[in-house]
Amino acid sequence: MDTVVNNTNEHIDVEEIFGCNVFSMGVMRERLPEDVFAEIESIIEHGGELSLKTADVVAKAMKEWAIEKGATHYTHWFQPLTGITAEMHDSFVSHPDKDGHMLMEFRGKELIKGEPDASSFPSGGLRATFEARGYTAWDLTSPAFIKETATGPTLCIPTAFCSYTGEALDKKTPLLRSLEALSTQALRIVRLFGNTTATRVNTSVGAEQEYFLVDQTKALKREDLIFSGRTLFGAPAPKGQEMDDHYFGVIRERIGAFMRDVNVELWKLGVTAKTQHNEAAPAQHELAPIYESANIAVDHNQLVMETLKRVAGKHGLRCLLHEKPFAGVNGSGKHNNWSITTDDGINLLEPGESPNENIQFLLVLACIMKAVDTHADLLRQSASNVGNDLRLGGNEAPPAIISIFLGEQLEDVVHQLVETGAAVNLKEGGTLQTGVSTLPDFEIDATDRNRTSPFAFTGNKFEFRMVGSEDSIGSPNTTLNAIVAEAFCEAADRLEKAEDFDMAVHDLIKEYMAKHERIIFNGDGYSPEWVKEAARRGLPNIPSMVEAVQTLTTDKSIKLFEKFGIFTKGELESRAEILYETYAKTINIEALTMVDMANKQLVPAVIRYAGKLADSVNATVAAGGDATVASDLLKRVTGLLTKMQEARVNLSSIEKKGSAMERGRDQAYYYLEKVVPAMDELRRPADELERIVDKAYWPFPTYADLIFEV
Ligand code: ADP
Ligand code: MG
Repeated sequence: MDTVVNNTNEHIDVEEIFGCNVFSMGVMRERLPEDVFAEIESIIEHGGELSLKTADVVAKAMKEWAIEKGATHYTHWFQPLTGITAEMHDSFVSHPDKDGHMLMEFRGKELIKGEPDASSFPSGGLRATFEARGYTAWDLTSPAFIKETATGPTLCIPTAFCSYTGEALDKKTPLLRSLEALSTQALRIVRLFGNTTATRVNTSVGAEQEYFLVDQTKALKREDLIFSGRTLFGAPAPKGQEMDDHYFGVIRERIGAFMRDVNVELWKLGVTAKTQHNEAAPAQHELAPIYESANIAVDHNQLVMETLKRVAGKHGLRCLLHEKPFAGVNGSGKHNNWSITTDDGINLLEPGESPNENIQFLLVLACIMKAVDTHADLLRQSASNVGNDLRLGGNEAPPAIISIFLGEQLEDVVHQLVETGAAVNLKEGGTLQTGVSTLPDFEIDATDRNRTSPFAFTGNKFEFRMVGSEDSIGSPNTTLNAIVAEAFCEAADRLEKAEDFDMAVHDLIKEYMAKHERIIFNGDGYSPEWVKEAARRGLPNIPSMVEAVQTLTTDKSIKLFEKFGIFTKGELESRAEILYETYAKTINIEALTMVDMANKQLVPAVIRYAGKLADSVNATVAAGGDATVASDLLKRVTGLLTKMQEARVNLSSIEKKGSAMERGRDQAYYYLEKVVPAMDELRRPADELERIVDKAYWPFPTYADLIFEV
């Protein structure tokens, strides 16, 4: 190990450092004139636009604060459709006066609007290259912060990114639109139940982030990890995760030092890094923050991913966020915990002591069942990216079929409602007897955890587990909010008109639950029986990202997103284009990387080894010995070498055809159906060879080197 572990355990005052790099409400209250602060607060809570005069005041305060923290630059920080964040740094430096003095400057104009040259960001045809203009606009609802990197402290201003004509070019704009839609429709629901005090309904999100850590020096010896963030070759190590000794295992010192640094960096940014543990696979870990409002949670998750990568580098490690860095080893996801809360503090997903009698909860549940069943295809799409194809629908969790897990108690309530129109019984949890007099007996939950469901009710929230580890959580939350807003809207349309509300709500809950009960599945989501059962129920099973793209532009989808002003048809079509392009480009890089590794590393290494074997056979025979072992091995090795070379040539020519194709749907399908199988064909003999070739000849670190020796 070439890195020194710094475990001095110096004292960290968490209360002191928490949020110290955030231009928070507290800082604004302190530093802004009262009326300006009131204006900001009102816009955050009720919407509206900031006047340029106010913006000037805020910009000045923000600049002074940032300069005190050592910042020399600011940037609009946004989330283009590349899935990661983008920034363009400008310094506060202004024109010197005639004596050569310069005053650091930052004006309201620069705070609220930016104009990055947008031609290099994906736009899916929304913005022809000659009209490169794109705007970033300050999102007041997510606080500005200072990022400390090697470039020095930089003031980052969270912004939305739109085209000249107002189309969203990012992940944030539609998310903000979906939050408005959900708020409006959810308010209608709570009003029906007599709530007159709530003025807004918010969604809360907590994203559990999984990741792998490998040694940086070793990772840099593998082109595949460098170019595609995952291994494209690699035979399984003799030991996998079958001993279950990693999950929740003792955290190793080197990893511990890394986690400690990550936490400190995140706390400074106001990210509530809360839990950390080892995950199922060796070298796999997880970090979870405390949930917060959806928009901020999406931004913070980007910061979590950035911080993990940056801090890893400092510790001589490389953080792999890819959904499936190692074949045959558990992949990484992101559990998106999601709930809906009114601004007067009611969580609409809180079942209470007797969910069977909690009519508002049952209505919300019925609406969510309807939303998820009606738009299972869209929800699945929202969690798809190139890497997730290797994780979903494979022999590991979660499957590519959307279903809802409710747990025994709630499932029983739904069942009673559907069958008899009333849920009179409630299954109780009971007590867990530990059998040890000094240990307490526990009240246990009426519901055990289910680990295999893609969309699980976990107490007072839903956990959408399909999301990929590397993906932004912007899209999944946008879709979730949109589909639930639609169901709330349709329910409210009916109930607001009802003469007898009690009767009407009762009928509606029963009707929705009966119609959409098929989406509920409490069993083992990984079993082959479920795939069959789901097909029988008519639930969609969309095995790949490419096949999921078209769900964005169906009539059903366009109607949904346009109705709530979340996406226009044009925006949906452009997103579909970008997804097809992204898929083809990503697979293209992977294919080229494989060809390169085979050409320059694998084929030459195996030839060298075969030569060595041949020499050994000749020498042994000449010396009158028995050369059977070496000569058999030579035959196997050269046989596989030939296969590998053929597969390499084949992949090269298939890839060439693909990259010559016009961008779009056909090209994406070509990569899915032709290039990916050709990549598998090349991988097979290479991995086979790795098992039998003398390790001294193998040209790059193996799985065993990478995941067991961090
Ligand atoms: P589990 O162990 O079941 O996955 P945890 O309690 O560890 O659940 O929480 C996982 C994540 O869910 C955390 O980020 C947590 O803050 C978040 N979370 C908890 N309650 C809610 C809620 N009501 N809404 C949204 N997220 C929540
Ligand atoms: Mg979880």
